[in-house]
Amino acid sequence: MSQPLPLPSLHASHAGTWLRDANGATRGCSKGEAVMAAADTPLLMMNAPLVANRLGYPDLSGLDLLELFAFVHPAKFCVPTPKGLAHALDLEEPEDDAGVPLLLQQAAGALVATCESDDWAEREGAWSTLQSLARLRWPWANVLAPHVRKPEKAEKWLFTRLPEWEETPERPQPAQVLIDEPEIEAHLERLTGEGAEKREGQRMYARGAGHVFSPRDREKRPHVLLAQAGTGIGKTLGYLAPASLWAKQSGGTVWVSTYTKNLQRQLRQESTRAWPPARPDGSPPVVVRKGRENYLCLLNLEDALQGGFAGRPAILAHLVARWAAYTQDGDMIGGDLPGWLGTLFRKRGIAALTDQRGECVYAGCPHYRKCFIERSARNAAQADLVIANHALVMVNAARGRDLASRPTRIVFDEGHHVFDAADSTFSAALTGQEAIELRRWIIGPERNSRGRRRGLAARLADVASYDEAGGDAVEEAVEAAQALPSDGWLGRLAEGAPSGPLEALLGQVRAVTYARDESGQEAGYGIETETSQLPGELVEAAGSAAQALAQIRTPLLKLAGRLEAVLEDAPDWLDGQGRARIEGARHSLAWRIDLIAAWEALLSRLGGPADPEFVDWLAVDRNDAREFDVGLYRHWLDPMKPFAQVVLEPAHGVMLTSATLTDRDESGPDWGHAIAKSGAPHLELLPKTAQADSPFDYAGRAEVLIVTDIKRGDIPALAGAYARLIEASEGGVLGLFTAIRRMRAVYGRIADRLARAGLPLYAQHVDPIDTGTLTDIFRDDARASLLGTDALRDGVDVPGRSLRCVVMESVPWPRPTILHRARRAAAAEEAGGAQRYDDRIIRARLAQAFGRLIRSREDSGHFVVLSPAFPSRLLSAFPEGTPVIRLTLDEALQRVAKGVGETTEPEQVESGES
Ligand code: SF4
Repeated sequence: MSQPLPLPSLHASHAGTWLRDANGATRGCSKGEAVMAAADTPLLMMNAPLVANRLGYPDLSGLDLLELFAFVHPAKFCVPTPKGLAHALDLEEPEDDAGVPLLLQQAAGALVATCESDDWAEREGAWSTLQSLARLRWPWANVLAPHVRKPEKAEKWLFTRLPEWEETPERPQPAQVLIDEPEIEAHLERLTGEGAEKREGQRMYARGAGHVFSPRDREKRPHVLLAQAGTGIGKTLGYLAPASLWAKQSGGTVWVSTYTKNLQRQLRQESTRAWPPARPDGSPPVVVRKGRENYLCLLNLEDALQGGFAGRPAILAHLVARWAAYTQDGDMIGGDLPGWLGTLFRKRGIAALTDQRGECVYAGCPHYRKCFIERSARNAAQADLVIANHALVMVNAARGRDLASRPTRIVFDEGHHVFDAADSTFSAALTGQEAIELRRWIIGPERNSRGRRRGLAARLADVASYDEAGGDAVEEAVEAAQALPSDGWLGRLAEGAPSGPLEALLGQVRAVTYARDESGQEAGYGIETETSQLPGELVEAAGSAAQALAQIRTPLLKLAGRLEAVLEDAPDWLDGQGRARIEGARHSLAWRIDLIAAWEALLSRLGGPADPEFVDWLAVDRNDAREFDVGLYRHWLDPMKPFAQVVLEPAHGVMLTSATLTDRDESGPDWGHAIAKSGAPHLELLPKTAQADSPFDYAGRAEVLIVTDIKRGDIPALAGAYARLIEASEGGVLGLFTAIRRMRAVYGRIADRLARAGLPLYAQHVDPIDTGTLTDIFRDDARASLLGTDALRDGVDVPGRSLRCVVMESVPWPRPTILHRARRAAAAEEAGGAQRYDDRIIRARLAQAFGRLIRSREDSGHFVVLSPAFPSRLLSAFPEGTPVIRLTLDEALQRVAKGVGETTEPEQVESGES
């Protein structure tokens, strides 16, 4: 057992503040005293930004245990709370807040002892990193120096240590195989394990899923299956069983697409039942693929380590470099880099280390052969199973680098989100932020900016000097791109002094949007207006902007043609690497050309008759009254139309599955609408449908409580209700809000009171912690409660006692945006009209939120809606048989305090039954 580190320590929560001397006692103290003590001498603390937040003193710094943990165990999971740290280090949990300062000393002692021990698994590279961190005055460097011994041989630096990926031959087309139902059932039985209870629902579901892997009979006619599977059916293994059989027998790749990172993590775990971690040749049969912006870009990291970052961000870069040597796949967002690491350093440090702007120079990069993104793309091309997200699958189908890597057998899990994902993937946005990105991609960095963003001319310097026409095209594009917005554009717009045709257009957009704004109480948040009845000045500015864009697109097209010609008639000096770089440039050129063409199309419509297929609008994005973007937007009225063409048509088999694929109104599940929303009708396909109901006893284990005496808009009453519900259930509450403003107001009123009762409260957008980590904290502590917005409604999977009550602040009405209004108006022509359109949205949200509550057979709990008016027609959102009770807050508190199943029967019970 290691000794506690004899340094003073500090802990601050909403319940109070505690200081502990180096070798002595712990005492409560005032916030002011804590701030003074921290200014005097570096104190041990945990999550310094959070402590600073609690003390109301933003400049606080100290010896943060989380930074030390990240240095000692770079890719290891740890919930960033005292309890989580205790678990990660095998220490005893503190009993209460007052016990935390001692734990911090013990944890520091344990971590320092690890540095001294011979079996420290992550020793390699530590000494060298520590030397760099000492130069950067990392507070821990002096403490650690005596404990991290100098290695006998010089340590290799990260960029030489990382392994290279291998070039692999293209995979042949999958064999045409037919897997039969008995085979699927037998395989499912193997996967679920000997002795596991046979679940008929799961078997039926698996048999149905097998259908999408049958050979296709006609071109452009994929097998499409819509499968609704209630929670608890075991749908993951249900589709992995036929998928793994098919992949094995055909030699093809199945893509499983999810909406949340949480499900991706779960899938990776479940897939280990069907596939080993590696094939005999060492390659992985299962690969998680995410958008490139999720991965560490080694070139950006190298820049950051060599002076691109200064001060605290430079310390972050070194800790990330430590992690890069131990990570499984280089995924920085939701992978094995602790989600909390970036938030310890404020600003956008993590984002700057990823490839956010598509500036990758491919084979021109010195780290290309070690690049995590390239490795993941290559592994995916050889994998049996690729786990990805909806947006990435759609983007890959639309513009995958080569045809062979485009997904053809796809399972969209969380299929109820495919519409939203298609909506954003197939939309166009001509905004200042987007346009400035394009400018940087073409021209390179503006003066004074750091980093390697070099622009088109530098990236294609060799081609430009070899091929005169190509060189001219680059020059023309760079010249024409001067018309795009540049740094400081938002300020110039606000002053009415735009520069260039694009800024002039955005200036007009901003002026018109403000002129028409009637949002009133929503002041400070985003505003928008439709594109009808636009003033002549704006239409004129749009014409000039469209011309300027065409002048950029023309040389880019010419350049694309020249690159093709160079590849076809390759010069001697063009080796494999050079070829790959030109291929890469061609690929990203094509993407930019499409983007500009979409912008031009958007502008060409302004002032003319509206295209009924699209919804266009102008918007100013703001947050807390600060503007951050201005622009024009275009969405498809029905985004499943492009989805059908781009994703469905070339595919051979597609399955959409979810617990809430269909809406359910008084007359039962609405499959007609689910089919219409799948995109299949655009190809004149009639998908197969399947349904397996949840085995859970909702009637006996859940109650929906509709609290009727909290007035809408009464914040003190709303806050009081939340506090009392959390107290009654002794934590374990997930609070869902439709507006961040109201959530902050409620949090501000109740966090201290609850903390004093030993009931910690966390909130998205308030605590300086990312959403994934907040969920980890919530899961880890049965007395904690969590407040949040949409992301929590969909992504939280917390089985067991940690989540026993979901509280919604009100009925989740859709926001009356221009896009919503247009779709609602289109739906008015259909059966049920516009109201049914809204009802479907609300029921889907309620069903999703309710779905957070019961995650396993043993779970039970309450679903509370604080709404005086809750139309009965929405009750079908809840699983059949779930009791629904309208009652006062006091009555609800009694039921929550007693727990489900303990209360006497209420007098008036409705139910979610149809
Ligand atoms: S190949 Fe591209 S993404 Fe990979 S490290 Fe190099 S620049 Fe970054």
